[in-house]
Amino acid sequence: MATLLLKDASWIVTMDEKRRILRNYSVLIEKGMIKKIAKKITESADVTLDCKDKVIMPGFINCHCHASYGHALRGLLPEGISREDYLRRLFGIQQNMDEEEEEIVSLFAMGDLLKSGYTSLLEPGTAKHTRSLVTAALKTGIRLVCGRQVLDKENPLGVTFSTTTDARKEAEYSVRRILSLENKRIRPCLATFSPTYCSKDLLQSLKAISASYKAILTMHVAEDQRSVKTFTNAIGKRPIHYLSEIGVLGPQTLLAHALFVSDEEIDNLISSNSKVAFCPSSSVRGSGAGANSRLPDLVQRGIDVGLGTDSASSSYYQDPFRVMYLCSVMFQDGRHDRSIMPPETVLEMATIRAARAVGLEAEAGSIEVGKRADLIVIRASGAEWTPNLYPPYHMVYAADKSCIETVIVDGNIVVRDGNLLSFDAEDVEVQVKRISSDLAKRSGHKFEFKWKIA
Ligand SMILES: [Zn+2]
Repeated sequence: MATLLLKDASWIVTMDEKRRILRNYSVLIEKGMIKKIAKKITESADVTLDCKDKVIMPGFINCHCHASYGHALRGLLPEGISREDYLRRLFGIQQNMDEEEEEIVSLFAMGDLLKSGYTSLLEPGTAKHTRSLVTAALKTGIRLVCGRQVLDKENPLGVTFSTTTDARKEAEYSVRRILSLENKRIRPCLATFSPTYCSKDLLQSLKAISASYKAILTMHVAEDQRSVKTFTNAIGKRPIHYLSEIGVLGPQTLLAHALFVSDEEIDNLISSNSKVAFCPSSSVRGSGAGANSRLPDLVQRGIDVGLGTDSASSSYYQDPFRVMYLCSVMFQDGRHDRSIMPPETVLEMATIRAARAVGLEAEAGSIEVGKRADLIVIRASGAEWTPNLYPPYHMVYAADKSCIETVIVDGNIVVRDGNLLSFDAEDVEVQVKRISSDLAKRSGHKFEFKWKIA
């Protein structure tokens, strides 16, 4: 599509530097780029969308989502088990997935994300076959940052590991493969599961590869107090302090969770300009994050914290509106303070701060002339949008993903009237259900539901 005109939008929440909210403006998109934002645009376009009674927003950016398995493994494990038990059993099932299954589940997940208003996604390296993610991203049109997770220590979670040399080679090979696509919508990243299961040598090698290819390096860290304690007892230093000392922090280092951190570790993150991905819907369950974590302090001190959804198997839902709502209220409640995490801050974490967290700030995260056209058009009518005097309040506290009408990535319409244009979602849903059941059988999984199903 050469040109696209989004005409007479009742509201445009730009998320630009001044955080302007525009009334009755139009946006002209040409060759995938935002060409003009003005009250009156006289140029004609190949496609014109009437945006009266709509809000236009930058597309949401999901900084941490395990897209290759989450939607198929959702609900297989019983509720209430410990995090370690959950992960060990989950990865035990996931290890049985083949490339075709990963591709189908990734396709379904990316379709779900696009329909929910996400235009970009960082997948933190958990697919066994990175190619399956890339194929799904090319088909759906989503913007993707992905890579191959490597680690070199045996671990109780049963995550595949290799020698340090092989892990280093595999990580770099994966980056080069993605770069060889020469597709600006698909970016490589480096990933390891956690510094707990990774040698100092490998962490430093991954950081060096990340620096030489200007690619994000991501890993899980400080997700609960117990994991911090275990790490500190084993290594003699808190995890982020350790990463700082061995030179692994930096502007392209993206730490998933980073909830339980010391004052010194916050200083480490600030001085290194490191980034954080926060996943409210997986962190809220039993970690005490709302009351006891330092996440609001990280945000307040200016660290680029972006939002994510983790896997559908741990979070269940992928709705960015529910994620934003939770991000706001869990800390207000936990800290007995209604001024923490206001809607404006949470919207930044879902868009422009998220873009900086995953290295996409030059092209995405705000609506500004010269950026790529990654936008969503939201229906701003109906009960949850009334009276709509100030969209950020409705966006964070009232709306859900059902108000997403049109999703545009790189100037291409990928969702229209709430429907995916790239593939038949119902057909793929049937396949994902089959994969879920096949995986349970193949891995010898025993269901443990409390209530009998007759
Ligand atoms: Zn994760």
